[in-house]
Amino acid sequence: MSELSRGPELMEKIVSLCKRRGFVYPSSEIYGGFAAVYDYGHLGVELANNVKEAWWKAIVRYRDDIVGLDSAIFTSPRVWEASGHVGGFSDPLAECKSCHSRLRVDHLLEDVGVMADEKMSEEEINALLSEHMKEIKCPKCGKSDFSPAKKFNLLVKSNLGNFTGDWEKEPVYLRGETCQGIYVNFANVLNASRKRLPFGIAQIGKAFRNEITARQFIFRTREFEQMEMQYFTPPDQEMVEYEKLRAIRWQYYLDLGLKEENLKWHKHENLVFYAKEAYDIEYNFPFGFKELEGVHARGNYDLTQHSKFSGQELLYTDPVTNEKYLPHIIECSVGVGRTVLAVITDAYHEEMVDDEIRVVLRFPYKLAPVKVAILPLSKKEELSVPAKEVAQMLREADLTVEYDETQSIGKRYRRQDEIGTPLCVTFDFDSLEDKAVTIRDRDTMEQVRVPISELAAEIKKRLA
Ligand code: ATP
Repeated sequence: MSELSRGPELMEKIVSLCKRRGFVYPSSEIYGGFAAVYDYGHLGVELANNVKEAWWKAIVRYRDDIVGLDSAIFTSPRVWEASGHVGGFSDPLAECKSCHSRLRVDHLLEDVGVMADEKMSEEEINALLSEHMKEIKCPKCGKSDFSPAKKFNLLVKSNLGNFTGDWEKEPVYLRGETCQGIYVNFANVLNASRKRLPFGIAQIGKAFRNEITARQFIFRTREFEQMEMQYFTPPDQEMVEYEKLRAIRWQYYLDLGLKEENLKWHKHENLVFYAKEAYDIEYNFPFGFKELEGVHARGNYDLTQHSKFSGQELLYTDPVTNEKYLPHIIECSVGVGRTVLAVITDAYHEEMVDDEIRVVLRFPYKLAPVKVAILPLSKKEELSVPAKEVAQMLREADLTVEYDETQSIGKRYRRQDEIGTPLCVTFDFDSLEDKAVTIRDRDTMEQVRVPISELAAEIKKRLA
């Protein structure tokens, strides 16, 4: 089996497969599309749910020291003033003077090997832009002439609860990240859960950002889902816990099934003033190594800000020493869509079988959206009725099943390979007599005969 080399060709194949097979559709396509927003189809939902379940299990359910939360998308606008997002959550935007594309200058600079990031001031970024203007090419038209960069705020505004018609003066924001909902609930969770430091709060939910660039498929979207965990520590334990969290998050991706050679750490050199340390886990996407997850040590900045702006004391009292202090926070934060894209990229394989290209998504079994396909050899009722009974039996055994009776068996195998189904079960005329079916393995294509009475147990054994 061969993995395809990274590049635009692989990206095109993934985007096309995702649409064709119902993983991901461009939003509002019948109206000409809606930039940087995507809809998830049946297989995409199943895959994303499996990703979220793996994260939730690893972060919340298998641990005693982390609890879950589902805070609302809307909050008081004060939350975003306190967090610094109203004042400073912005990316540097420049316009190509030739084709008028709006572009993110820190990314254009990175593309020509110049270290830049969104935390730089307008002056710093413009100095770099002028210095490297000739090397930078507009990704759309190839010209090298750009307007000066301006910082553009990424928060998405709404009129929720404001009926004055002048709502833009006092907007309510759609959350730009899920973690603020965690910080503002710190005292509630502490009181309700009776946890002692160190402990964490985790949540999965939608976030919204007015991203400037709308390229790269589900890697960067304006509406997306985040999986975030904020871990509250005594000040002197922050960095010890941080190192533990880094190790845990690396191992998580290996356990998820991503290939280690496609992962790497990136250390932030230009830290925001309050941060102690910041690393990203990068994945080798079709367009190269880019951030998959951030793992950051944030000091006590977040609780300090919310305490200041809300006037509420968010101190923790040490139960042994009675000392009062603001907890420090370490966090891990990753997008569901970015993980889905990483998982699909890692799984995408092509190989020659019988002079034809076989496309296989070699998903780790726990992530595969469909676990088993039931394929009767004929559409005739003689076979379709008992085959459907087998499918239902497996569904009731808690397996995700697809039933398919159209076209040749070879074509049906290929269709299942392309969506990464680990096992296909064929029900043939002999099955009526010997009460057995054939299991075919996605990766080895080997086939074995198994009694129907043992089928569910056999499948579960193979998928374990
Ligand atoms: P980038 O530098 O790529 O814009 P970021 O540093 O702004 O990302 P964070 O604010 O740290 O990202 O968000 C944490 C995680 O949320 C990211 O690592 C990524 O997985 C995900 N994420 C952030 N922005 C988006 C987006 N627009 N679309 C999809 N996922 C996103």
